[in-house]
Amino acid sequence: MPFGRTVGKMVSCQALWPLLVCLPMAQLTEAEVLEVLKTVNDPELHQDLVGLGMVDQISIDGGRVGISIVLTTPACPLRGKIEADIRSAVGRLEGVKVIELNFGAQVRGPKQEALPGVRNVVAVGSGKGGVGKSTLAANLAASLVLEGAAVGLLDADIYGPSQARMFALEGKRLMADDEKNIIPLRSYGVKLITIANLVEDGQALTWRGPILHGTLSQLLTQTVWGELDYLIVDLPPGTGDVQLSLSQLVPLSGAVLVTTPQDVALLDVKRAYTMFRKTHVPVLGIIENMSYYQLPDGTKDFVFGEGGAAELAEREGLELLGRIPLTKELRASGDDGKPLVVASPDSRDAQDLRKIARSLAGQVSIQAHMSLPVL
Ligand code: ADP
Repeated sequence: MPFGRTVGKMVSCQALWPLLVCLPMAQLTEAEVLEVLKTVNDPELHQDLVGLGMVDQISIDGGRVGISIVLTTPACPLRGKIEADIRSAVGRLEGVKVIELNFGAQVRGPKQEALPGVRNVVAVGSGKGGVGKSTLAANLAASLVLEGAAVGLLDADIYGPSQARMFALEGKRLMADDEKNIIPLRSYGVKLITIANLVEDGQALTWRGPILHGTLSQLLTQTVWGELDYLIVDLPPGTGDVQLSLSQLVPLSGAVLVTTPQDVALLDVKRAYTMFRKTHVPVLGIIENMSYYQLPDGTKDFVFGEGGAAELAEREGLELLGRIPLTKELRASGDDGKPLVVASPDSRDAQDLRKIARSLAGQVSIQAHMSLPVL
């Protein structure tokens, strides 16, 4: 990095004061700016931007300071805070008049790449079926694309694969390239592979153990995913063979758990949480779905109970990534094959889903950071 180049600055000499000797002002240097950036921490990784290798370039032109920052994800949830902290710190340097900030992103993954080109594999699981796991997986994948990430989605829900419908790809056949590798389907920028392509319409998969393991391995490793920041895996509900196989086949960046506030769903999600912990998969957080139904007069009806996911998160020291209400629009968007974040991007629920996706990306960055060796 070209740090350390000194650019001189002179006090402008006004013709009115011809007798004053023009002295050079303290010169602003890139090294000085870099030093100040060492005092700015990434709020989630709790380390300074320079130490994290996030400062890509510094340039100085008169009182104009240009800084290029490489975030750990384009979906950075705290970009606003990082920007404000940089402006405040650098702005205190003498001679700085304008700060031009430029943000890029390079998604980091665990030390060991999950699959060739795939930086992070994130599983979306639930304890119980029907809690909206697939709906949220679809919206998370589409949200991360909207944030600028390269995203794949593997529908591994053998009991009810629904991603083809949620992405309007029902009936589309998978193709193979010359080397017999599978080419994923693509919708709203998400590269999609679904286990549904391997079964007849409407039939549930009854494979267990080794066959399932082999099929999952094939879908993961023989798909032309290309470069992916995030591969989201929509798991079947519960704690069965797919979960176990997946954790054996690839190093997962983590898992997200979806639950409703209902006691029985919470009990089951606790089991799923325990299973992930036992298989050393970090649990990145919980999403509470169908949290309430908003009545026309604005009051909230807590159809499935209230506060359960928050309590569970607190008890287990987990992140509650967000809460999504029960709405006709979310149900309809799934049925219509267009995730809500694409169908109604400005709606409050779409904005909340985008926020959850950013929080999730933040948690993935934290995991990647924690997996690095301490220097
Ligand atoms: P799972 O993957 O947990 O089995 P799905 O995502 O398939 O659950 O959702 C089950 C049903 O509930 C689907 O018809 C879906 O459209 C609907 N659904 C999911 N979340 C919501 C929500 N927040 N509001 C309304 N309907 C929802």
